[in-house]
Formats: sequence, structure tokens, C-alpha cells
Amino acid sequence: MKRKQDYELQCDVLVVGTGYAGLAAAIEALSSGAKVIALGRRNPLASNSALGGGTFAFADTPLQKQKGIQDSADLLAGDILKANRRTIPEDIVDAAARQSVELYDWLAEIGAGFYEVMQYPGHSVPRVHLESGMDGANTLNLLLKRARNKGADVRLDTVAEHLTLNEKNEVEGVQAANSGEKTTIKARRATILAAGGFGKNKIMMARYLPEYAEMPCVSGAGSTGDGIRMGMEIGADVLNMDAAELYSLGSARKGLRIPGVSEAMSKGAILVNKNGERFTDENQGYGLTAPPVMQQPDAVALLVLDETLLKSVVKLHRNIDKYLNTGLIYYGKTAPELARRTGIDPDNLQKTAGQIFPSGKLYGTWVRTILIQSMGGLKVNSRAQVIHRHGHPIPRLYAAGDNTPSLGGAATSDNPCPGYLTGTGYLLALASGRIAGQNAAGVATQ
Ligand SMILES: Cc1cc2nc3c(=O)[nH]c(=O)nc-3n(C[C@H](O)[C@H](O)[C@H](O)COP(=O)(O)OP(=O)(O)OC[C@H]3O[C@@H](n4cnc5c(N)ncnc54)[C@H](O)[C@@H]3O)c2cc1C
Repeated sequence: MKRKQDYELQCDVLVVGTGYAGLAAAIEALSSGAKVIALGRRNPLASNSALGGGTFAFADTPLQKQKGIQDSADLLAGDILKANRRTIPEDIVDAAARQSVELYDWLAEIGAGFYEVMQYPGHSVPRVHLESGMDGANTLNLLLKRARNKGADVRLDTVAEHLTLNEKNEVEGVQAANSGEKTTIKARRATILAAGGFGKNKIMMARYLPEYAEMPCVSGAGSTGDGIRMGMEIGADVLNMDAAELYSLGSARKGLRIPGVSEAMSKGAILVNKNGERFTDENQGYGLTAPPVMQQPDAVALLVLDETLLKSVVKLHRNIDKYLNTGLIYYGKTAPELARRTGIDPDNLQKTAGQIFPSGKLYGTWVRTILIQSMGGLKVNSRAQVIHRHGHPIPRLYAAGDNTPSLGGAATSDNPCPGYLTGTGYLLALASGRIAGQNAAGVATQ
């Protein structure tokens, strides 16, 4: 590891990554009076934060109260621990759940708005908040603007390459590259790794998730695993590196995500295989139905819904209309007509879908299982300090968001992350980012 005495740039808190986690960390460190530099790739919208579906798991919020939904941080923490089978330390889950109560107002204060709250599998009450833009990018832009307005030096063309250490083996900053030019940056207090997952790093995928390495992956191009690698280079421990989020509802034609399909399934849309048979309990959600879809003929399924359901989803997703006339969504006045258009046996589809949606007018889209993102990361404690393989916190190093293990927890033999609850990716990114930013700003200067 290189030791650098003469740094070209200096700050109190250095943040690597400009997704939700990095920007939340930067904003909190700035609020504590720290001078902050945040490093990112040129396009901050090529992050999972910006590409995400805009669904946030928060508890005990004004929107829930307005709708008479009783929720609490304890109830959310309990749901997360039940789903992940306690494979994530309880104090980390608790810390995120406590933040979930504040985050709604914290985001509202920067201009983000939520217009609906929904029930998703594994959550014991409706608590998945739908953001007005429904795509994650709106909130990213607001966070970026807030970080800059508060004085962060955001460098969107500077990519961190390695951590640097001082003579006491404390993290001192990073070596980075700006359009091929090397530069060094010192953090007088601490460095925060918030550079996202590794879904787009072929080498890490082949090493940690070989079974899924060839599956279409909808992670952002910035998911290069740099933060995890940089931490590991200086001895950081990792957890759940064989965990990944699967999604049963990727478009079979394009491998992309069609907005609204998961909401449609949680409201009653069904999955039917090429033989016209139902094969799984759709109420389990897109994560747990992913392996069953993979086992069907040609590893595809038709997601079938009727007009009432379609209308309710179109109401939720204002931008779904553009998909209706692209040939991705099939229509039939009756179940046999939809069957003929999609090549399914008409009698069988009538038996399955026709009984559930007796009013006719059905819609269907072919889906297959795709990979959303990697879910493992650097081991941290509830203060967001990165833990060394020898068990101690690495001095002056913090990590947040997808650089740390997902709240969804460990893989099982038949699903690489059965415990992920919708909305908790954003929750972890924002909560751990804020925790990392506050604690990093509190470290004594060197
Ligand atoms: C398609 C999709 C949909 C999703 N939908 C939802 C949802 O609706 N709700 C939910 O809760 N979760 C969702 N998630 C998960 C959620 O998006 C992530 O868990 C969360 O946004 C992670 O935030 P992050 O800041 O840790 O990482 P990211 O948002 O990925 O940000 C990391 C940033 O670091 C940058 N970076 C990488 N390497 C370097 C480097 N060396 N130097 C500088 N910068 C670097 C990247 O370019 C990127 O901008 C979704 C994920 C995907 C992929």
C-alpha cells in the first residue's frame, strides 16, 4: 500500500461515491461543520440509487399517520430481522429502523415528496412509500443539490482507486484518478466508502456469484465494486458476498424492468407458465418467486392481470403508458384470446386466468428472472466503522449503503437473498450514510 505524505487536496471528511449513501453522508458531515470532498463518476445517474424504483421503507411517517396506519421502528426492525433470519446484526438493523422514522421528514425538507404508501410482502403494515418521481433520480438530484449548496466539493470526474494509510495504519485518504491523471486526497478526520455494489464487475461476479454472473443485471454502470475492493485491500472483512437480489419480473424480451409490474403482482396479478399453469404463490413477491420462474419451461412466465388492476397500476405509475403500445404488453378481450396472442394453450389459460379474472379483458407480459444487484459488502458495526479481518474497527474508515451488507441478509441454497424487503435498499443507503457522515465528522483531526 502506498504511503503519501504530500496530498494534493485536503478535507475533513472524504466521501467515495455519490449515490444516496455518499450524499447522505456528505450532507450530515457538512451539518457537523466538516469540510467535505465527495468523489464520484461522471454520471451520478448511473447509480443504483438513481435507477431504482423509488420505493422507500420508512416507519411511523406523517403519510402513514394520515392513513391511520400504525407503525414503529421496532415493528420495522422485527420484520427485517424475521425476513433475514437474523443474519445481519440486530444493532445494525435497529440503527437503520430508528433512522427510518426521521428519514421521511429529512427527505421532505430537501424537497422529496411521497404520494402513496403500499403494503409489500414481509412488511407487516403498508410502509413502502412511493416517491413522486417513482424512479430514484429525482431524490438523487435533490441530494446532490443539497450537498453542493451546503458547501461540499463534489468532484464528479474523480474516481477513487486505493485507500492510503499513515504510519499508524490509520486510513488517511485516497489515491484517485481524474481523466487518467493521478491525484491524492487527504481526509483529516475520516474516509467514507459509499461506492455501491459490484453487479457490473465481471471479475467479482465470477468470484462471488458465479451462478448469476451471466444473468442480465440491471445495476447501474457505477456498480464496479471499487469501495469493497479498496476496503479488502487494507484488510477489511466482508459479509454475505454470495448474496444477490433476484427479480422475477424482468421483461423477458429486453431484460429490463417495466415500471409497475411488482405493484401489479402485489395487487393480484398472477404468473402463468408457457403451459398455461400457475406454479407459485405470487403473494411472496418478486424476490421469492424468482427461483420458481427460473424453473419453468424456457425460464419465462406470463404476468397476467385484468383491466381493473392495470388501471390501478397506471394510476400509481404515471410513466407506464409508454409501455402499453410497444408490443411488450399483450391484450386479449378474453383469456383464450390472450392465450392465442401469447402462444399459450387457450383452454389452460381459461382455466387459470379466466377463473381469477372473470370479467375478460386481460393483459399479459412475458417476464424472466433478472439480477438487480449484489448484496454483500464490507463488514461494519452500527457506527458504520469498517471492521478488519482481525475484528477491530479500521481507524478513520467508514462505509455505507451497498458497500456494506444488505439488510436482506445471507443467501440460502435456493435463493441468493430471500430476506430482502422492498424499500430497504434505500433505507440502508440513507440511514447508514447519515450515520457514517455524523460519526466521521466527529473523529479527531490528524
Ligand atoms: C434497478 C434497481 C432498482 C432498485 N429499486 C429500489 C427501490 O425501489 N427501493 C429500494 O429501497 N432499493 C432499490 N434498489 C436498491 C437501491 O437502489 C440501492 O440499495 C441503493 O440505492 C444503494 O445506494 P448506494 O449509494 O450505496 O450505491 P449507488 O447508488 O450504486 O451509488 C454508488 C456510487 O458510487 C460511484 N462509484 C463507484 N465506484 C467509485 C469510485 N471508485 N470512485 C468514486 N465513485 C465511485 C458510482 O458511480 C455510484 O454513483 C434498486 C436497485 C436497482 C439496481
